Amino acid sequence: MCGIVGYVGNREATPILLSGLKRLEYRGYDSAGLALLEELPRAVSTSNGHSAELVTSTRLIIEKCKGKVTDLEEIAANKPLHSTIGIGHTRWATHGAPSDVNSHPHTDQNDKIAIIHNGIIENYAHIRDRLIARGHSFRSETDTEVLAHLIGEFYSQNHNLTESVRLALNEVVGAFGIAVIAADDPNEIVCARKGSPLVIGVGNDNEYFVASDAAAIIAHTRQVIYLSDNEMATVSRSGIKTRTISNIEITKPVEVIDMELEAIEKGGFAHFMLKEIHEQPRTITDAMRGRVIEEEGNVILGGLQNHLKDLRRAKRLIITACGTSFHAGLIGKYMIEQYARVPVEIEYASEFRYRNPIVDDEDVMFAISQSGETADTLAAIREGKRKGSLALGIVNVVGSTIARESDAGVYIHAGPEIGVASTKAFTSQLTVLALLTIMLGRMRHLSVVDGRSMIRELLQIPDKVQQTLDSTERQITEIAEIFKDAANFLYLGRGYNYPVALEGALKLKEISYIHAEGYPAAEMKHGPIALIDENMPVVVIAPQDDVYEKVLSNIQEVRARKGHVIAIATEGDEKIKELAEQVIFIPKTLPVFTPLLSVVPLQLLSYYIATARGCNVDQPRNLAKSVTVE
Ligand code: GLU
Repeated sequence: MCGIVGYVGNREATPILLSGLKRLEYRGYDSAGLALLEELPRAVSTSNGHSAELVTSTRLIIEKCKGKVTDLEEIAANKPLHSTIGIGHTRWATHGAPSDVNSHPHTDQNDKIAIIHNGIIENYAHIRDRLIARGHSFRSETDTEVLAHLIGEFYSQNHNLTESVRLALNEVVGAFGIAVIAADDPNEIVCARKGSPLVIGVGNDNEYFVASDAAAIIAHTRQVIYLSDNEMATVSRSGIKTRTISNIEITKPVEVIDMELEAIEKGGFAHFMLKEIHEQPRTITDAMRGRVIEEEGNVILGGLQNHLKDLRRAKRLIITACGTSFHAGLIGKYMIEQYARVPVEIEYASEFRYRNPIVDDEDVMFAISQSGETADTLAAIREGKRKGSLALGIVNVVGSTIARESDAGVYIHAGPEIGVASTKAFTSQLTVLALLTIMLGRMRHLSVVDGRSMIRELLQIPDKVQQTLDSTERQITEIAEIFKDAANFLYLGRGYNYPVALEGALKLKEISYIHAEGYPAAEMKHGPIALIDENMPVVVIAPQDDVYEKVLSNIQEVRARKGHVIAIATEGDEKIKELAEQVIFIPKTLPVFTPLLSVVPLQLLSYYIATARGCNVDQPRNLAKSVTVE
């Protein structure tokens, strides 16, 4: 989620690191920092005790702050930071709010080692407790500092830096892209990756770069080595040594990047929105990271641990949100009521805040917001709190206003979302709501066996999203071409997929400016059916679930009026092929998790229709990413 840059060579590192960080800044990071190794002349007595000679030692310098790279630049400008080796970081907080002390780099117990980290260490709490028992003390709330101390622990036992990093990484569970330097090893950067990207740049004149994203180093070199998961590298002025984290030496090819900067920033995709759609297998995994206990069929949501009693006692849950988050919340209601048997009300935050809602201390409110700054949602939870309800947040941006003002909450860990039309944040919200459902269910009526089978299925969702992307994208570009000039679209779904119909229609409106309506499929006959004629494309979400047969009848009704049916159906469904003009297949899963799959082709459909119409999908007209006004 963060930005990493490293440099070792013969030039001043600071300007190289700062300009690299600036290249990554467009993603909206919250803090920035540098670690450098400054060479110091030092007088040392010789053995005869008389003469003195000058040798050098190195000092670890850390500069870091909450805010933008320019804030860090100002700090650096006021200090003479001379070094030819260093690492730089822009943070997108996951553990601990944005603050100076939580910013990276983090150091070990002896302040000898500095690390920058991209990702999440799932078992950090366990390792931290173990290290505290061994006398370590921690300054920040981050998972990263724990890793710094763990590396330091091995380093203090006389392992070299590479081996210390390697041993530490063997103990951590989670995702990481890291770069590490040590005061006593002024020639090398050790870097490694698992689940977070890392690239090494090969420059001229014995200089090397490390980055989370080639965009940060492209100004200096186009020759790169991509590390794969579970690989690490020791990068020094004399070259690169690569090995696996299990200590097998490997040789990696040097590749040449032929993309332009803009394309690199978008990960090779034409737009951020498409990149984010494709990130979903990973972001869904990140939303589950460290939160499921498969054997117990249970879920631990760290942020809610102090409120388990309130959640168990709650007579009613109230979900409040706006836009796409509202649609996620509506699916959450269906999930929670089915499996946890607690009544759930969901309401648009803008309505809730102004209509004198009935709320009391037996209710628990959930506010869902990607940015955590949505003005209406914020006002709604303030209103709920005023009336005695516990207010919990489901938010992407750590340390955002809703995260701070709610009593507790769960982060969705989707990483920065740049496309204005939300895609990956939606599926991450759904994943967190699914986890919440299992947790609430296990407090009430859900058996361990049922909890376990739900978890097993949920863990397969990232792969099934990947399959959906792989198998549908081409077909969807063709469908988009056929329907791109339609003036209207109708989206229909039932049960869990009714809110997906709303979301599909919203996505299309947002970025293609085609008028679209989402409806519960059965409601069609109460009005919208009047609109159907040979010009109306109707997207019907029809997975093989409890309401499948009913949805088929709705498809028949559309066909009888000459509407064009585009169906989203379960793989292997032969029957639907005879009814619908176009069928987009998604893998089979439990009905409760179908929205996580069925929304993906709808995101792609709106994307490809919008691009076929020449619309600016990343910045659609009249829309803002974070709606901080009423
Ligand atoms: N989990 C780390 C933190 O919260 C790294 C976040 C990032 O990837 O920027 O500090």
